[in-house]
Amino acid sequence: MRIALVGPPGSGKGTQGELLGHRLSVPHISSGDLLRDATRAGTPWGSKAKDYMDRGQLVPDELVLELIKERVARRDCDGGFLLDGFPRNPDQALALTRVLNGAGLDHVIAIEVPEQSIVERLSGRRTCRGCGRLYHLTFNPPRRFGRCNVCSSELFVRDDDREDTVRERLAVYRRQTEPLMGFYSDAGLLRRVDGSGTPDQVTRRILEVVEELR
Ligand code: AMP
Repeated sequence: MRIALVGPPGSGKGTQGELLGHRLSVPHISSGDLLRDATRAGTPWGSKAKDYMDRGQLVPDELVLELIKERVARRDCDGGFLLDGFPRNPDQALALTRVLNGAGLDHVIAIEVPEQSIVERLSGRRTCRGCGRLYHLTFNPPRRFGRCNVCSSELFVRDDDREDTVRERLAVYRRQTEPLMGFYSDAGLLRRVDGSGTPDQVTRRILEVVEELR
């Protein structure tokens, strides 16, 4: 089963990607995580990508595509995968179909969250420096303050979760990613899911949609 999660920053794609990946037994592939790993390697390519990310803008398609292409070609993706954050514009969607040899996706889940919740969600977000797991000071706090439940590494605020960058990311989303909805709706693949409530409630809504279409 090949699924993509789309939605504005802060809609819960990362959290749902983790939860659903376990539930559906498919790898969770976050383009943001792939990019963050690549930027940590400190290559010239990585620092170029980091510049875009720190400004809240999309990294050029060819850089992201290389990473996605390599990742979906691995053996663990033979039975499907869950994409989070990719595709992010119609050109990437077309490129993905080519990468998958024309096979395309089975479902595109659009997670919908009112705009006023987004800034609140992102400003409380904390990310684990070790394994990339996501927490929220109010909605999903770690058991030990400032430390990851799983690997005990330090939790930090991503540069792009700061308020001015969040606003830029939202503007980029509206301009560049929202047109994807029309693209996938025309293809008959788009399912809209209410992203409010607890992570488990949202997971349940998404699973209902996926099961219904199976
Ligand atoms: P995310 O973790 O999905 O919020 O992504 C963080 C940042 O990584 C975004 O603001 C972009 O700068 C970059 N990024 C992630 N996915 C993509 C993509 N599919 N295309 C271009 N840039 C991306």
